[in-house]
Amino acid sequence: MLKFNEIEAVFFDLDDTLYDQLTPFGLALEFCKIEASTLNIEELFKRVRYFSDVLWKLHTKGQMSLEALRVVRLTSAFKDFDLNITKEQALAIQERYEYEQQQIQAFPGIIEIIKDLQKNKSVVGILTNGPVHHQMNKIIALKLDQVIPKELIFISDGIGIAKPDKRIFEYVQRQIKIKPDKCCYIGDTWENDIAASIEAGWNCIWFNHRNREPQSIHTPNKIITDYIGVFS
Ligand SMILES: [Mg+2]
Repeated sequence: MLKFNEIEAVFFDLDDTLYDQLTPFGLALEFCKIEASTLNIEELFKRVRYFSDVLWKLHTKGQMSLEALRVVRLTSAFKDFDLNITKEQALAIQERYEYEQQQIQAFPGIIEIIKDLQKNKSVVGILTNGPVHHQMNKIIALKLDQVIPKELIFISDGIGIAKPDKRIFEYVQRQIKIKPDKCCYIGDTWENDIAASIEAGWNCIWFNHRNREPQSIHTPNKIITDYIGVFS
């Protein structure tokens, strides 16, 4: 059982954990006039995220460029729904998606939760996979840079290790000098956020708002679908 009064550090994943990633994606499809009326956009988006995680491993090994990853994750996801989009369409969706990501808002209650945790003397930070500049732009759009100090924002490309490699969690705990069993991670993705943080000896909360299935025998300390009362 997770005893919240014993937790000294809380770290959040960024994408689809601190803000709804589906909103900018849906707006990008709409803008690009992609014929998606027969599609369940949430299911399509889940496939994009799936390919994103799979291809990210190739990217971190230097076997795929970021631009190729962003095209292939879209073309592959659409293909799974029997729709073919061109490379140009994929690039147009990606470009608009990045624009829409500048307009994102944090999930309701997030800023208050962070401030409450800080009031209770917890270290609160972000640990996210991705390119430093791209992830920071989203953190700034969410105004999270105004409540979380820069030294507590950890971005995989800046460190050279990415989730699900548990060494990134160990890197964070070394920086903050807090033992893993006093740390708690909150994230939406099973392999990267839940299995990986448990492997590192952290506590974790699975923000399962997209109704996914567990993919291994790891057991999160808590499963939530919204942030109401998460630390009470
Ligand atoms: Mg995420």
